[in-house]
This record gives sequence, C-alpha cells and structure tokens, in this order.
Amino acid sequence: MQSRKYRFNKNNKKKWPIVVSGIISSILIIVPLTWLGLHNWNLDDSLSALNQETQTTLEPQDSSQQSNGEEDISIDGPTKTKPPISTPEEPKESPEPPVEKPANNTYLPNQEHPNSPTIINQLLVVNKRYPLPKDYNKGEDPKARESFNQLAAAARLDGFELVAFSTFRSFERQETLYNQYVAKDGQELADQYSARPGYSEHQSGLAFDIGEKNFEQHWAAQSFGETPAGKWVAQNAHLYGFILRYPLGKEEVTGYMHEPWHFRYVGVESATDMYTHKQTLEEYLEL
Ligand SMILES: [Zn+2]
Repeated sequence: MQSRKYRFNKNNKKKWPIVVSGIISSILIIVPLTWLGLHNWNLDDSLSALNQETQTTLEPQDSSQQSNGEEDISIDGPTKTKPPISTPEEPKESPEPPVEKPANNTYLPNQEHPNSPTIINQLLVVNKRYPLPKDYNKGEDPKARESFNQLAAAARLDGFELVAFSTFRSFERQETLYNQYVAKDGQELADQYSARPGYSEHQSGLAFDIGEKNFEQHWAAQSFGETPAGKWVAQNAHLYGFILRYPLGKEEVTGYMHEPWHFRYVGVESATDMYTHKQTLEEYLEL
C-alpha cells in the first residue's frame, strides 16, 4: 500500500510541469486572441487599443514624471525652477514696508507737549516730532557752555574770535519770536527756518548759535558757512562735543534748512561718531 501510494505521488509530481506549462501556453494564446476578437480581428485596432489602455493606467504617475523631466531638460527649465526659490523671499520683503517710521521733519497735527523730554541713548532729542514740555526751563547747559569756551579758545589760537550769540531760549521767548516770523513771512515759510514754541532745540539749553565777533553780517546767515571762521567751526566743533545740527543736504531728515551757525552739544564721543559718519542726530539715533 505504501509503495503504491508512493509511486502514484511520484507519477503525479512528474506530470505537474506539463499541466502548468499547458495552462500558461493556453493563457498566452487565448488572451491575445480574445483581445483581437474584441476588436473585430483587426490587428491595428487591437494594438492601438492596447496602447491607450496601458497609457491611461500609467498616466497619473508617468505624465508627472515626464513633464518634470521635460522641464529640467528644456531651456525654460532653469527659469521655471526659480520661482519656488523667489516666492519664499517675497514674504520677507513685504513685512518691511508697514514698519514706516513717523517723519521727524514735519509737525504732527494736534500734537501735545509731553510731560518729560525725550531722551534716547542719554541724548535729549528735540525736533518736529519730539517737542519739549512747555515748562522745560533749565537754562543754558553748563557742560555745553564749558565746551563752547574750550572751542572758542582753540579757535582763538587759529585767529578766530567766536561768539555764541544765542543759546537758551524759553518756551515763551520762542513763542514771541515764532509769532513775529509768522506775522512777517506766513506760517509755511516761518516753519522752514524757525521752530514752533516747544519744538526749538534752544529751549533745551544745548543749542548754541555760533558766529564771529565783528562779523555780525554773517550771524544766523548762510554766508557764515563760507567764511574761514564758519569753515573752521564746521571742521572742529565735534572735538569739543558739538555737531552741526542742520547740515546741507539733510533737510528732509532734520526738517530744517541748512543752518551753518546752529550747533548742538552732544558730548565728544557722540559728536565725533556723527561727524565721522556724516550723520544727523536723527540718523545717529535711528529715529
Ligand atoms: Zn539756533
């Protein structure tokens, strides 16, 4: 019994390859014939139908790979690949414009006087954006006066007799002056050369209008900048802590026309920094 069974199994095993190959060969014959039959036994129709079938099934993957490949190879490839790089940069640029700083060179409508002066990096700021309190009335700054005396002494050695013809001015004094200028020239013109009360740097006691003794015709005049004394002061004031407060070409920054006679005490270190970098107080403090 056992040997028979063994033989039977053995014979069966030998037949398996024949059966399997028969099935495969019949599939290989039947499937194409069926396909051909479905397309009216026309070989061209059947082949094109087969092509369409394989394309539609592969399209989702194949077309995307193909189009990518084409873009890389084509001339447009490099330019088409750039936008993904430039688009992340655009959002970086756009947040910057909204950070618009209020202008220092014009008065804000209905601006009120503060209760205390604006001091940034230990430097007192007075301009059309930062007024002083009405009652800020400290008089001439002693350090500024001492430094001016040293500046004048140095100038004397070079043959110039300097005078500080206007330093501290109270709120009330500035009010009187400004109103006189407005009555004479109108507000628009007066605003270009005179500060409104509370907005004058002279109220801080740190501003010194400098001229040359016996040359009063150049005091508070553009011509002072052209005189040897005026040029000397412009070149040496920073060594004694003074800056030319309203330089030529910085009218839009300071809000005032060029005043070659108006100097502001800020200390030697800051003055030298600003002089070296050709910066106004507004630029130096990044206002
Ligand atoms: Zn002045």
